[in-house]
Amino acid sequence: MTDASPPPSFQSLALPEPLLRALADVGYEAPSPIQAATIPPLLAGRDLVGQAQTGTGKTAAFALPALAKIDLAQARPQALVLTPTRELAIQVAEAFQRYAVHLPGFHVLPIYGGTGYGPQLSALRRGVHVLVATPGRLIDHLDRGTVDLSALRMAVLDEADEMLRMGFVDDVEAILQKTPEQRQVALFSATMPAPIRRIAERYLKDPAKVTIEQRTSTATGIRQRFWWVTGMHKLDALTRILEAEPFDAMIVFVRTKQATEELAGKLEARGFAAAAISGDIVQAQRERTIARLRDGQIDILVATDVAARGLDVERISHVLNYDIPHDTEGYVHRIGRTGRAGRSGEAILFVSPRERHLLRSIERATGQPIEPMTLPSAEVVNDQRVARFKQRIAEALASDDLAPFRALVDAFEGETGVAASEIAAALARLVQGDAPLLLQPDPPAAAAPPRGPAHREERGPPGARGDSPRPRHKADRPPDPGMARFRVEVGHAHGVRPGNIVGAIANEAKLEAGAIGRIDIRQDYSLVDLPADLPAATLGHLRKVRVAQQQLRIRPWLDRPAREGGDERPRPPRPPRPRGS
Ligand code: AMP
Repeated sequence: MTDASPPPSFQSLALPEPLLRALADVGYEAPSPIQAATIPPLLAGRDLVGQAQTGTGKTAAFALPALAKIDLAQARPQALVLTPTRELAIQVAEAFQRYAVHLPGFHVLPIYGGTGYGPQLSALRRGVHVLVATPGRLIDHLDRGTVDLSALRMAVLDEADEMLRMGFVDDVEAILQKTPEQRQVALFSATMPAPIRRIAERYLKDPAKVTIEQRTSTATGIRQRFWWVTGMHKLDALTRILEAEPFDAMIVFVRTKQATEELAGKLEARGFAAAAISGDIVQAQRERTIARLRDGQIDILVATDVAARGLDVERISHVLNYDIPHDTEGYVHRIGRTGRAGRSGEAILFVSPRERHLLRSIERATGQPIEPMTLPSAEVVNDQRVARFKQRIAEALASDDLAPFRALVDAFEGETGVAASEIAAALARLVQGDAPLLLQPDPPAAAAPPRGPAHREERGPPGARGDSPRPRHKADRPPDPGMARFRVEVGHAHGVRPGNIVGAIANEAKLEAGAIGRIDIRQDYSLVDLPADLPAATLGHLRKVRVAQQQLRIRPWLDRPAREGGDERPRPPRPPRPRGS
């Protein structure tokens, strides 16, 4: 275990102050391994070859040094990122925008095919500092003379092996040949096939080579499972696990300090004894929180990697990776927080379909399979809720101050003739409050996304399940893995067509049209499948968007009158925790 080595900080990487402020805004508390290894040589002006996949934090690894070098006064492309797809171009451009919030007047422009030239041309005329482009469309612009690369200082080839696979290699070379001799080049690729190595040899000068070592480590005595994030919000999935899986104490890992506080707050609101720690809190407070975990005042700690370094609390029976870690080392370090002092432990990993390759790297590097898991069904959760409710009744019956209540019930029964069991039911309803006691039953199949233990085909978030019965109706099929179903308040009655919904959502949520799944238009509303991990802020925005003069008022569809936010709230107060698992 590498608990003792101090984590590198963004400050120690000598990034300019406005970028450090932006990183604090987004809540990154420490560089990921690829960032720590890549930012210094890129800042120093070296060429670089980085072997890294999506999910490792590679976008910031090149975007931050690129931004550090931008001269804002000069509104000409100074950095160029080539990406294989337009989705990635958009994502990378958004990342630049996020990291550049404190650089006034900064402009980044994504350039990709399949759309008109008009908006790209006017943006180019207004002046941009960074271009993020797919190779084909950039070549068109270069041929038309509408893009000028003469002020370029840095070129980045992102996902070079993907560009090769998509047949862009000649375009990439042609573009590199049109860049100034003195520019710096960074090449990122998950794999290094021969044509990519050739490009590196030909166009990069004495490059720094960065490979994030996926060191083999074993975690013995820890059962490892993963859940594809599909068909349900992560928060609801976590709640089900907390309610139905016997655990003693649990650490839930998220990526940012904001996420620690947000998630701990939501868990508390759902009746769990949770607290947050991040690298930002002062040491004394961190110690206090850990002491509360140790002595059982809280059962759930929501933490970032930095905050959990070296944490050694015996009663941690479970580690739940709510956000997947950036690399294998991070994973091994996280799950090592359980199984302490010779005990066994449980590790659970939430993986969205886009992160599947990280799951595979972790399995490869640790040499241990991670089993797919099925979330506890609504039925199992409900059995637990009923059992806990009965337990509360039994505890209340055992108390010695029932006499006045018994008299009250007797009097009520005498006055109204209502049976005691009816009165008891009414009182139980009062105790329960507004939150429903039971979850609605799961729709068929949706409860168990990856079926069959270690069934290989279920491992990759499979697009198609060959064995599912033919749907009677579009929406009878559960959403594909990684997707969730939403209801929007526009339907046939308003004259809407699927294209209107796709167009509006794609534009307003900045989604690729291909990322929008099945649409089922009904009389006065429609159902639409969207990526399950859409941020709450995006949904909040979509709620107000109008299509066919109707506000979408989008909300999760749970095959029943859905409540905002896909809530599956357990009843407050805090459920008693099952112990001694
Ligand atoms: P990427 O590999 O660039 O696609 O990044 C994967 C995810 O990690 C993105 O959601 C980033 O916002 C996030 N991320 C990147 N760097 C950090 C960091 N140092 N700390 C926390 N999250 C990060």
